[in-house]
Amino acid sequence: MKQNNMPEEAPKKRMLTFTLHLMGRFLLFFAILLFIGFALHSKMTESLNHEAEKFSTRQGELLSFVYHNLFRAEMAELNKAANLIAAGKITPTDGVQAISSQGQQGGLLDINGNSLIGIALPEKARLQCARTLQGEPSWRYYKDMGLVAMVPVYEGPAVRYVLCKLYTDTGLQDGTSPFHFSAQKEDEKVLLYDTATQQVIVPFQDYRESPFYDAAKNAPLGLDKLLEKLSSGQEADVSIFDPDLNADYMLSAAPIPDTPFLAIGYREWRSLMTGITNIHLIVLWVFGLLVVLFCVFILYSFANQVAAEESTALREARDEALRANQAKSEFLANMSHEIRTPLNAILGMNEMIMRNARGTMKKYAFNIKSAGDTLLSIINDILDFSKIESGKMEIVPVSYSLSSVLNDVYNMVSYKAGQKGLAFHMEVDPHIPDALCGDEVRLRQVVVNILNNAVKYTPKGSVTFKVQAADNLPDGQLVLEFITQDTGIGIREEDKAKLFAKFQRLDLEKNRNIEGTGLGLAITVRLTEMMQGSIAVDSVYGEGSTFTIRLPQTVEKDDPIGDFNARIEAALREEKSYRESFTAPAGKILVVDDNDMNLTVVQSLLEKTQLQIHTASSGRECLSKIAQEHYDIVFLDHMMPEMDGIETLQRAKALPDSQCLHTPYIALTANAVAGVKEMFLEKGFDDYLSKPVDGKTLERMVQKYLPPEKIKPAGESTDSPAEEQIDLPTALKYCGGNEEMQKKFLTMFVSRRGAVAKQLNDDWETQNIADYTTHVHALKSTSLSIGGIKLSEAAKALEMAGRACCNGPEEEKDRHLQYIREHHGEALKLYAKLAAEAQERFGIS
Ligand code: ADP
Repeated sequence: MKQNNMPEEAPKKRMLTFTLHLMGRFLLFFAILLFIGFALHSKMTESLNHEAEKFSTRQGELLSFVYHNLFRAEMAELNKAANLIAAGKITPTDGVQAISSQGQQGGLLDINGNSLIGIALPEKARLQCARTLQGEPSWRYYKDMGLVAMVPVYEGPAVRYVLCKLYTDTGLQDGTSPFHFSAQKEDEKVLLYDTATQQVIVPFQDYRESPFYDAAKNAPLGLDKLLEKLSSGQEADVSIFDPDLNADYMLSAAPIPDTPFLAIGYREWRSLMTGITNIHLIVLWVFGLLVVLFCVFILYSFANQVAAEESTALREARDEALRANQAKSEFLANMSHEIRTPLNAILGMNEMIMRNARGTMKKYAFNIKSAGDTLLSIINDILDFSKIESGKMEIVPVSYSLSSVLNDVYNMVSYKAGQKGLAFHMEVDPHIPDALCGDEVRLRQVVVNILNNAVKYTPKGSVTFKVQAADNLPDGQLVLEFITQDTGIGIREEDKAKLFAKFQRLDLEKNRNIEGTGLGLAITVRLTEMMQGSIAVDSVYGEGSTFTIRLPQTVEKDDPIGDFNARIEAALREEKSYRESFTAPAGKILVVDDNDMNLTVVQSLLEKTQLQIHTASSGRECLSKIAQEHYDIVFLDHMMPEMDGIETLQRAKALPDSQCLHTPYIALTANAVAGVKEMFLEKGFDDYLSKPVDGKTLERMVQKYLPPEKIKPAGESTDSPAEEQIDLPTALKYCGGNEEMQKKFLTMFVSRRGAVAKQLNDDWETQNIADYTTHVHALKSTSLSIGGIKLSEAAKALEMAGRACCNGPEEEKDRHLQYIREHHGEALKLYAKLAAEAQERFGIS
């Protein structure tokens, strides 16, 4: 059980290992990819920020430039008024008036910073004033007051006044001052910052509600960092990007020349980096895509591997099944071979028993033969099928004679059909060439299989076998068509598909008593296919079937087969009218044929002649037999595998230790075309006999070639070995029908044979005819009581001769003595035969 699971567990385990392995690889790759992704991302962010800072710094410069111009323009206007005052073109009061407007108030200070006209400045503005006296226009912001610009007003080379202008906080913050900077971009915010007072001088709209407003410090968000950077003094303009800030904004700061102010710009990082962040996004996308692709790849390779694993498992399972099938075929082949060998021995031994046995024993032996033959044919089928399945069956084309094959087929099938009481018709197209090339053995096998089935599945009626040439193909090929028609049980339409499957038997209720394995047609169809042929079935259930086999064969010679049907009919006629015309128990012949059935035909045809018939199934066996024994005639089949009849004859004639150098050799051939006889005579045969062999011709042939002294007319010999010595009804009559008693009598009778024979021999040798007569008298009645009629009659005749000897006239005594002399031995022989038969039939020894 455990072992059975093994092959299933192995792939599972492998699958698990593979999955873990794959997962491991997946995780590793994913981690690497993630690491690369992060590194790439931070590197990119860093470089993007750097780019953004550079960009933002440039923006700051631009901003500072714009503000510088604004301050210069304002200062220029103030200078202009101062110059006009200095030149006396306008009065100081007019001058102050000219620079004042809403939110902007002009004023004139003396050199000590005291207000002369217009606005009064706080104390802390004196410092600015002092600087202005040195000739420098200046800008200052005063908390809670506003932005103040001052320019000197000259009188000659010396400064006489200071003209100043106050941009009030209100004006600065409500956006009405000239310093209000409206950014071009919506997301760009700009404010003006005074580093001295750390105050936002000009905010942008909604500054305090914006995300840049740091309420805690009342300053723009991130300003401290900007200032820190600015104070490090590396660059004039700076910008920062601080991701810690709650919005992705770039801040840039640029000092406005000639003022203590900073222009601070805020810009959304994303809008600033529009193009670049897209790249970032693209890279991210590409990266994401890569990850997705990687996942897909991993999944794909996983699925692939699973499929590969599955197909490996499938392949392994298939290989395993093929191996198992191969092993099964080999096992079957070996077993069949192993069974066949002893079975052949059994059948061979049985053959000997059949030859010598009588009566019931012979019947039993026949039963053994028939069961053995069936078993042999089943085993042969299994062997053939396993050979086909394991690919070891080969088609071996040889030159053969079609008539020889058909003769074998006829012999095999007509015998079986005859036994079942079926008519067997054979119709062979006389124009088919006889000499063909193909696998003769397999062709015969498929045809016989189909014909055997026809006989098997036909309870009454007939089987017709037609042979014709269906097609003439180019290259000297023809298609032989074998049609088998029977009037049997037929095949149901729905069963036809199953017909050629192995071990498939159909219609089992009807066929229960018919022996079969369901392999015959499976073998037939496979062999037919291997021979490039085809098989077709046509059947009407209950009426009969027609099987058509077509096989392409190569034509060796165009000589036609001739009237095979006429020969068959003649053979049939002869067989019916056949009565043996002679007996020749002393004659011994050898029949050589590779086909068992042909041997059986000759044996049974000559059985009554009491000839001693030996058989050989190959040329080689023939040579070994003729080296050991003398035969009066050798019948040699022409067409045999390995060594044909002609070669066998040539070797036989050249065999140095042959016992049959002067024996006539007669060719057996199914080839009856003109000129065949001359050919055989030329090859050294003494005569030829055409197949199918008919009894009369065969007998005539035997009579012609057997030494005349061995031939006796029919009926001359009485000691036919076939005759039974014990007549059972007679024996039972004497025992009142009691078989037990009959056997007891018989046992006693047989056991006394030695004593009786000795007594009779002694009596005869001592010429004690009186005792002899008494003893044969006893033998007469005892033998009759056990059914030994013949022995009883022989004993009676001897008794009468003995009595005549003792009591009759003297002149006749010699004649009676002569009779006893001639028949004494014969009686003892009969006694011996009876004893042998008792043993065979009743097991009594
Ligand atoms: P089996 O050893 O049983 O004869 P086959 O393979 O030769 O095996 O035949 C398979 C089955 O086909 C038979 O069992 C029988 O049912 C059916 N069959 C074959 N030949 C004939 C036929 N001539 N008539 C009717 N049935 C047939």
